[in-house]
Formats: sequence, structure tokens, C-alpha cells
Amino acid sequence: MLDINNIREQFPILSTQVYGRPLIYLDNAATTQKPRCVVEAEREQYYTANANVHRGVHYLSQQATDLLEQARQRVSRFINAPSEQQIIFTRGTTEAVNLVAASYGSMLSEGDEVIISEMEHHSNIVPWQLLHERQGVKLRVIPFNDRGELDLQAYARLFTERTRLVSIAHVSNVLGTVNPIRDMISLAHRYGVPVMVDAAQSVPHFRVDVQDLDCDFLAFSGHKIYAPTGIGVLYGRRSLLEQMPPYQGGGEMISTVSFDKTTFEGIPYKFEAGTPNYVAAHALAVALDFVDGIGFDAIYTYEQQLTAYATEQLSRITGLRIFGQSEQKDAVVSFLVGDIHHLDMGTLLDRLGIAVRTGHHCAQPVMTHYGVEGMVRASFSFYNNEAEVDALAEGIQRVAKMF
Ligand code: PLP
Repeated sequence: MLDINNIREQFPILSTQVYGRPLIYLDNAATTQKPRCVVEAEREQYYTANANVHRGVHYLSQQATDLLEQARQRVSRFINAPSEQQIIFTRGTTEAVNLVAASYGSMLSEGDEVIISEMEHHSNIVPWQLLHERQGVKLRVIPFNDRGELDLQAYARLFTERTRLVSIAHVSNVLGTVNPIRDMISLAHRYGVPVMVDAAQSVPHFRVDVQDLDCDFLAFSGHKIYAPTGIGVLYGRRSLLEQMPPYQGGGEMISTVSFDKTTFEGIPYKFEAGTPNYVAAHALAVALDFVDGIGFDAIYTYEQQLTAYATEQLSRITGLRIFGQSEQKDAVVSFLVGDIHHLDMGTLLDRLGIAVRTGHHCAQPVMTHYGVEGMVRASFSFYNNEAEVDALAEGIQRVAKMF
């Protein structure tokens, strides 16, 4: 059992008001709010241990470097990576996918194929389209059915002798679908094809173990798991990372530089050009401690109950249609009511103090699938509660009456 009131007290923003009403924050899939310990970790480091990392012999630089490398170890333990050398700090999931598309992608040739799915976030579509434009690599797309489940038979048929990578979301940010990623990875591996997992929407909600999944790359964003913005993670299989060329050039990632020849650092540093966001990396480690302190068993059970409760309450509303009804579903409910425009619904809910997301959710192919321009999305964290879901349901009904 989670002590939600106690948890909520650790997030100062949750006790603020908007338009004179208590804030009901249901936009957690976009970004989560930050607990005091995370904000204080950042402040504390700027006050006591701030210096550029890796370059200095002086005390502060060594302290900052230690915190960064401890954070790498913490992330490595969190996703059960075989070694912290396989943890690359990025700005977020988007940069991690771009890194793989640019670096692993540079080793592909015209006519090679990458498999993605119809339910991807744009950050797992556009980098591959750019690769297509640069190098003629083709995209193959796994369709999903109206319940929001991937068509696994179609997936199996997409493999050819030119398939070089599969890159898919673990959990859809619109439909909430938890894809059967382990089975999808094992199928790809039967064809000798590596798999990249976009774990942006899974890592905050349940335990993700890269060795158990046997994935080849995995990406997530710190800000979706209670850490600051501007920090994210790319995990990679050692043999692949070692073969891959650097992604960006600059300081930190080189071994020696001359005008004749430059040699690069080993992994992970050859992928981390420039000053990293070392303060956010340390705060990410603090956020992971915070989440582990609550415990994923409790988080998962609670969030599943809350999502089921929300689904039940919203389903009762006349004319409300929920998008995404897969068997395995995570803490997201996307919907439309009658022909009320998603923006009108979102704007009027906002006036009631309820923050939901509206629009295409950076997944326009999902909108196209259902023939809609946008949806309203409520997404949950363990700090949300049933009273907030009730307020959402009441709010939706109030808005519906106005139309
Ligand atoms: N992938 C998924 C499934 C997402 O939901 C998001 C963000 O919403 C991203 C990738 C991109 O994350 P970021 O903007 O933090 O790079």
C-alpha cells in the first residue's frame, strides 16, 4: 500500500492552485513533477560540488566527476545493464534514438531496412526518415488493430534478408499499449536483427531489465521519471557500441587530436561529446533512488488500479470514446467526447484546474489510424488519486453539457 498523501507532500507543485482551484495534474506522460529531493540535489550540487567534469585535477572537478560516474552506475543498476560502460547520457529519448539512427545508421546501406510500428512517437519515426533521405534505408511499419495492439503476424512477415534493425516503443504514449517486447525481440534475434526499445513510457511505471529483455538498445528520458529535464539514457549492447562510430565530435570524446589524425575514447565517452549535463545526471540518480524507495511492485499495482478506475469512470460518460483498449495497458487514457474538439475539452478542463494534454501527442500516424485530428489524454502517476479521477470525470461531464 502506498501512502499517497505522504508521497504528494514531497511534490510541492501538487499543492499549488491554478485559477484559484487545486491543481489536478494528469499530464504525466508528457513530463512528471519533481520531488523535493531531486530539486534539492541539483541545488546542493551547484552550491557545493559544481565544476566541469573529467577535465580537472582539482577537488571540485573530481567531486563532480565522481557524482556523474556514480550516476552512471546507478542507472546501470536500475535497468540491470551488464556494465556502466554501456550507459550513455543523452538529452533524452529523442537524442538517444537520433544517436542510434546517426551512428548505427551510418553503417547501413541503400536498400537496408528498419522496422518500426504505426504507434511510434515522432521521435522514433523522423530520425529513421532522415536516415532514409541520407542513405536510402527503407522503413517498414508494423500496423496495429483498433484495440491498439500490434499485429504480430504482420511483424513476422516484415523481416527480409535486408532487415537491419527493429525500433519500437515498449509502451505507446497515446494508447497505453504495453507491447510484448520480449517476444518481439526474440523473434528479431532469430533473424539476427538487433532491437532498439523506446522505453520512455515504460521505465517510469514498471521494472525494465535490459538483460531480461535481451534488447540491443534502450532509451529513456529522465524528466518522465521524476528527474530534471535535459538528461536521458541510451543503453547499448557492448559489441554494437564498440563497432559504432562517434555521433558528435568535440571535447570529452577524444583520446588524442592532431590535424593528421584524431583517436577516440572508448565507450561510453566516445558518444558523449562536450560538457554533459552532469548536474541533471546526479539528480537522475536521486530520482531513481526515490522511485526505488517507493518500490515498483507498489507503483505498478497502484497505477494499474488507478488506470482501471479512470477507465471505468470515463466509460460511463455518454458519447465518450476511449482509444487504446489493449489487454496490457499502462497509465494512459486517451479519449474524445462526441464531436467536441480536443482543444475545447482541454481548455475548459484547464479552467477547472485539470491539466490534460490535447492534440496529436507527437504520434500523428495514430491519429490517422483512427481518422481523428487529435485526442485528449489523461496520464497518471503514483501521486494521483481517485478523487482527482472523479474530478476529471465530473469536469468532462460539465464540458459535455456546455456543448
Ligand atoms: N518516445 C515516447 C514513447 C514518448 O512518449 C516520448 C515523449 O513523450 C518520447 C519518445 C520523446 O521523449 P523526449 O521528448 O523526452 O526526448
